[in-house]
Amino acid sequence: MPDPACSIPKIGRTTHYIDGEWAAPGGSTFPDRNPLNGTLVADIAAGGRAESQRAVDAAAAAFPAWAAMPPGERQRLFLRAADITERRAEDIVPIMAAEAGSTRVFSAFQIRLSAAMLRQAASWGYLPYGDLMHSDVPGRIAMVARKPLGVVAGFTPWNGAFYLAWRTFLLPMAFGNTTVIKPSEEAPMSAGLIHAEILEEAGFPKGSFNVVTHAPGEAAAVADVFFEHPAVRCINFTGSDKTARILGARAGAALKRMVMELGGFNPMIVMADADLEDAVKATTFGAFLHQGQVCMNTRKVYVERSIHDEFVDKLAARVGTLKTGDPADPGVIIGPLINEKALRQTEERVADAVNKGARVVLGGESEGMIFQPTILTEVPADAICTTGCDETFGPLLVIQAFDDPEAALAEAQATPYGLSASIMTRDHARGLDMARRFDTGIVHINAPTMASEASLPVGGVKDSGWGRSGHYAIEDFTELRLTTLSQLPGHYPF
Ligand code: ADP
Repeated sequence: MPDPACSIPKIGRTTHYIDGEWAAPGGSTFPDRNPLNGTLVADIAAGGRAESQRAVDAAAAAFPAWAAMPPGERQRLFLRAADITERRAEDIVPIMAAEAGSTRVFSAFQIRLSAAMLRQAASWGYLPYGDLMHSDVPGRIAMVARKPLGVVAGFTPWNGAFYLAWRTFLLPMAFGNTTVIKPSEEAPMSAGLIHAEILEEAGFPKGSFNVVTHAPGEAAAVADVFFEHPAVRCINFTGSDKTARILGARAGAALKRMVMELGGFNPMIVMADADLEDAVKATTFGAFLHQGQVCMNTRKVYVERSIHDEFVDKLAARVGTLKTGDPADPGVIIGPLINEKALRQTEERVADAVNKGARVVLGGESEGMIFQPTILTEVPADAICTTGCDETFGPLLVIQAFDDPEAALAEAQATPYGLSASIMTRDHARGLDMARRFDTGIVHINAPTMASEASLPVGGVKDSGWGRSGHYAIEDFTELRLTTLSQLPGHYPF
């Protein structure tokens, strides 16, 4: 039973949601623990192949009616879900703190974005869905129309769990697909079960969305069905590029479409003419929101040498004021890392840089599961945390001085990733020119690398994946069908 001292959730359900029903409690479960102190947050149903199969069958059965539902009816459901999400905010915030180490600031940010995205998605059913094309054949009408794919199976992550899970449900469903979601085992409530409660309360039809949870290390049993079941037409994955390579190979073998939102090594370039105070604030937020565990966190800042020292001093002063501790405390900005493995990796990356000669400006140590917000300078080029080959999912920021902006631009994108980047400058023409030459899905000028809005397309290039959020997701979650009507007899060669 959950620890009564752990004042959690008003979430009612911790079992699978399949075909409009919550599974009866009492089956096999696994403990969902608070990353800060290991206390039990909830016992969660441990599903496998059978549950996954039932969920996909249910989504397949619900598909024709959901796809045919008039946009106005779907719109009402999405708008209701947005209202419920906002109404339940005070129930959801403590769950996200206890289960995923999410601070109040980050949880509130996610809830705001989630409600906004639900309201955006409510209108997507009205997007024009095709073209009338010219034909070279006299009397022929050619119509190209978008249609939903079928069942979309989604993997949701633990980090921006609440918002990213909404994205995994909403983007396919707004365009007429039904879904089966497999939440991350690290945060099954924040990454899917809460959403099922909200969608159920909003009145979404049974089978149109389904959630199957699983114990740590048992993802494959649930996921196997996604690749094998013919009704699943698309895999919608948010997670690491390492796992995406494994799943992408399987999707390829099964000839299923795959949409991927993966990691990033998001650089920021601060030009000498930048508003220094604003650059310091943007860096603090961009690097340390959710203790550096978001794919769009800033990992490295290139600062023009003439302002480098002042920038570092001001940044260290600001970051030094961030309160660390239990994210249940509303004043805390830096909570625990998600698990021991993440903590060890951050420790190892800092030690590696320091052993190779880096200077620790701030932080560098852990206290229990909390890693202090850490700023390193003079980091040698071969230190893992500065090469851009592998993101460090923790509160670790590298700062590097530059003399030549062109060299900084080249170095900043010498990474396999291509998610987000940021340029701080008062010279807007120059900022736009540099932005044009960044090989990333997103570039912000005078804003942090993470400046998401529900309506704007988020997604990466290179090893950061493919696919976009916002209404552009129509490209990912629909197919084109060509229909022609010939009104005159044809001419045939034989
Ligand atoms: P993260 O490190 O952000 O958790 P992962 O890529 O490890 O990212 O996990 C993302 C999602 O992929 C999670 O839902 C996890 O359960 C799932 N997953 C991880 N490994 C596998 C695997 N081998 N087969 C199927 N699913 C997996």
